[in-house]
Amino acid sequence: MGVKFLCDAMLGKLARYLRLMGLDTEYDKDGSGKGLLLSARSENRILLTRNRRLLVDKAVFLVNSERPEEQLRSVIAGFRLRCKAKFFSRCLVCNRELVPVSKDEVAGRVPYYTYKHFDRYSLCPQCQRIYWAGSHHHNMKKRIDRILKERRDRDAKGLGRRVKGESSEDRSS
Ligand SMILES: [Zn+2]
Repeated sequence: MGVKFLCDAMLGKLARYLRLMGLDTEYDKDGSGKGLLLSARSENRILLTRNRRLLVDKAVFLVNSERPEEQLRSVIAGFRLRCKAKFFSRCLVCNRELVPVSKDEVAGRVPYYTYKHFDRYSLCPQCQRIYWAGSHHHNMKKRIDRILKERRDRDAKGLGRRVKGESSEDRSS
């Protein structure tokens, strides 16, 4: 099991980004303070919050920026999130894992243009929303891709340095 998150009321957009990446992310738009901490702990979630007063707890990750993209960047860096294999696997609205459905099952339930151009669909068992590749916010996906690429580039540079360091040690021994 990967890391699971709970976003506080200030971080609704961040929650959608993380769900788009397939990460189990609850969003609590009512809870605050200790109550949030308790529900995060009881479900083994990391509480993502902008409330500095909650930082006393290990299970809390403080998000500094007001901008969702910056928030996402700090969470990706902080938890070394790289994998995007589970993109499009979770409902953006209620965080449930989507189940694949056949094209026949969605006939008449998605726009005609969509039905014509997409063959693979999935369904949220909770809210019954139907998803297809083009239905997720394309711009959100592009932003996530960009941030992940930045991380990969940075990791690659770091790795290059380490490998060099090791090889020079080999020579000296
Ligand atoms: Zn849903």
